[in-house]
Order: sequence, then structure tokens, then C-alpha cells
Amino acid sequence: MSENKKTGLDAMAGEGGYQEAYLADVIRFKMKRDNKRFWAGDNISDYVLDDKMKDQLIDEATEAFETVLDRLLIDRENDPNSKGTARRLAKMYFNEIMAGRYEPGPNCTAFPNDSEDRYQGMLVVRSELRSMCSHHHQPVSGVAYIGILAAQKLIGLSKYTRIAQWCARRGTLQEELCNDIAREISKATDSKDVGVYIQATHGCCENRGIMAHSSLTQTTVLMGAFKDDQGTKKEFFDNIKLQQDFAPR
Ligand SMILES: [Zn+2]
Repeated sequence: MSENKKTGLDAMAGEGGYQEAYLADVIRFKMKRDNKRFWAGDNISDYVLDDKMKDQLIDEATEAFETVLDRLLIDRENDPNSKGTARRLAKMYFNEIMAGRYEPGPNCTAFPNDSEDRYQGMLVVRSELRSMCSHHHQPVSGVAYIGILAAQKLIGLSKYTRIAQWCARRGTLQEELCNDIAREISKATDSKDVGVYIQATHGCCENRGIMAHSSLTQTTVLMGAFKDDQGTKKEFFDNIKLQQDFAPR
């Protein structure tokens, strides 16, 4: 087995460094070797192969969060509310608020849309979003309106929201998130004509810094006809308005 083919802890030990490396360090080393970007908003599921690996990463993150609590001078030994906090934080990051980094994308079965009576119109789906800003690790919550002009295949309606949530459950910037969702929807539907509009509130503006409780951020990404054709663009925003008039607030 060549040096590059070695996996897991062996690879790290083979680099003349650690005897007992953290799995997180091993994976980080591999991603650097492969020039794989691993920013907060990137999916790294190719490197977290199974639940066993994820469990180990959660154990390691628990240890690190314990150190953070110690440095914050929080008595995690006697304070009953802080006893399991380090593990709760580690599990929450891996399984919930950043789950979209470690899990592969949702499986989107595509249905052909190429018969004579195929759907040729616009489709707009409203998706609830929960995300986290990568600058402050504060919650971001809002809605995405995802529009496409139907191409040669269609995916189930719930898949739009699954894709949006998979992109959102990472450390993100709203601008990047808008791009990510548009790109993944375009991939899953084979449609070059995609529009994504996001409205969201940001914990980092509400709970700290400017403390602006009613701040709302809007971002739009328009591709293909949504960008180039004024009629399509208008229809998209008219649809969003119709959805907003209908949606419970
Ligand atoms: Zn922030």
C-alpha cells in the first residue's frame, strides 16, 4: 500500500508525527494533501465515511468543548446545567446545525419531463431555512424562495427544501448560501434557469453588535432566463409576493 493510499490513523503515524493522533487531525491532513477546501460552508462528507468516524469526531469535539468551558471558568463539574454541555454542543454541531457539512446530499430521484404534455412553466417552492453564520456561529433563520423553469426532469417538491436545508446546515454567509442553493438546485433539476431569493434574520445582528431586532437581510441569485428575461424575472417576484401574501407569518 503506498503512503497516499493509507487511511485513518495509519496515514498520520506514517508522516512521522503523532502516535495517537486525533481523527480530526488525520482528516484535516488528508484534505490538505488533496487540496480539498474545508471552509465552514463546504461539504466534507467524502472524508467522514460512516457513523463510527462521526462518533469519534463527536468524542474529540466534546473534549475540546470541555476545554472551552474550563477556559470560560464555568464549573462543569458541579453546575448541573453545565455537566453535559460539552457533549451536547459537539452533538449539536455534527448532527444538527452543521449536519450539511458531514452528510452527503439528499438523494433526489428525478422523473422524466420530456413527454408531449410535459410541464413547461415556472415552479416556485418556499423553503424554511435554519442556518448559522460562519463569522459568529449565531443562528440565521428565514425562508428561501426557489424558482426554476422546468427542464427535462423533475424532482419531488420536498427535495427542493431538502437541498436548501442541506446547504443551510453549515456555517454560512447568506450571500454564499444563496449561490450554493442555486447551484445545487440547478444540478439536481438540470435546469439552467434558476432563481433563489432568501429573506433571513441574523442572530449576530440581533444578539450582539448592532443589536438590531428587526433587521432583515435579502439576497437574490438569478441564473439563465431569471436573469436575462424580464418577463421571467417579474413572474418569479410576482410568485414570491403571492406566496408571502398566503404564507402564515
Ligand atoms: Zn455573523
